[in-house]
Amino acid sequence: MSNALLKVSGLKKSFEISNGMFGKKKSVKAVHDVSFMIPEGKTFSLVGESGCGKSTTGRLISRLIEPSMGEIWIDGEEISKRKESQLKGVRKKVQMIFQDPYASLNPRMKVRDIVGEPLAIHTNLSRDERNKKVSDMLEVVGLSEYHADRYAHEFSGGQRQRIGIARALILNPKLIIADEPVSALDVSIQSQILNLLKDLQAEYHLTYLFISHDLSVVEHISDHIGVMYLGTIVETGPKEVIFSNPQHPYTKALLSSIPIPDPRMRRERIILQGDLPSPVNPPAGCRFHTRCPHAVDRCRVSEPPIKKGEGEDHFVACHLVD
Ligand code: SF4
Repeated sequence: MSNALLKVSGLKKSFEISNGMFGKKKSVKAVHDVSFMIPEGKTFSLVGESGCGKSTTGRLISRLIEPSMGEIWIDGEEISKRKESQLKGVRKKVQMIFQDPYASLNPRMKVRDIVGEPLAIHTNLSRDERNKKVSDMLEVVGLSEYHADRYAHEFSGGQRQRIGIARALILNPKLIIADEPVSALDVSIQSQILNLLKDLQAEYHLTYLFISHDLSVVEHISDHIGVMYLGTIVETGPKEVIFSNPQHPYTKALLSSIPIPDPRMRRERIILQGDLPSPVNPPAGCRFHTRCPHAVDRCRVSEPPIKKGEGEDHFVACHLVD
């Protein structure tokens, strides 16, 4: 644990929402007791359907939103209860890459100013010094000085994501939270961006929290995977264990939907019935029991604790795993 760059323990987030005409308040438990750690220089991927709480977890860790409970340790500092005025150092260490590079880039700013803005906010560098750093960073992400005086709308989706990556890296952060960074891109461009992220990790010793709805996307980049369902991690382990010996029925269903490139091989597809239940009123017992093909009576009343799985460093929350 001593080399953990990020450690999250018992993280919870509830949102209050008004319900109906009379404005009665209800609580949405978006993140429910999430714990994991990422060693320095490694990649942990959070995977699950849209609405499972993975993006909220990323935003809690970057302190874009405030946790309801739990601890967040980044580079040896506990930051979960810090006020905004105490987060400046953390903002330099933790940067985010977002899903939609076009929406996250200001259309009225030139690339030079978009990428250089964090330097203007967090450093005392002169304009010339900032411009030099921006030019160098554009080269690092596969763009060039030529692109610095253009606007975001002049670029393709892949190039825009490279601009977003350049902006995220310009302050030499330690932790990158990448929230669906390739899901808006064509498949051929996805692999270019994933390769770029891998190369940058090796060069700058970056630690990644990678968030995706698609297990096939995270296979290439992950060291460790956490599968989320309705606000909680239901299975976590090294990538090789999750892909070769998944034990939670939800992980098995997610894996079964990944196409196999070899037409001679077949994989039985597990189709989950129904939609993800509402986090306003999550099912009692195991949160997955309304869609689980193996649910038994116990699953409807008792929440399964997370316990040791078959693989090393492998944990599963399911009553049927002993
Ligand atoms: Fe399915 Fe029961 Fe395991 Fe939940 S605890 S995943 S409902 S078998």
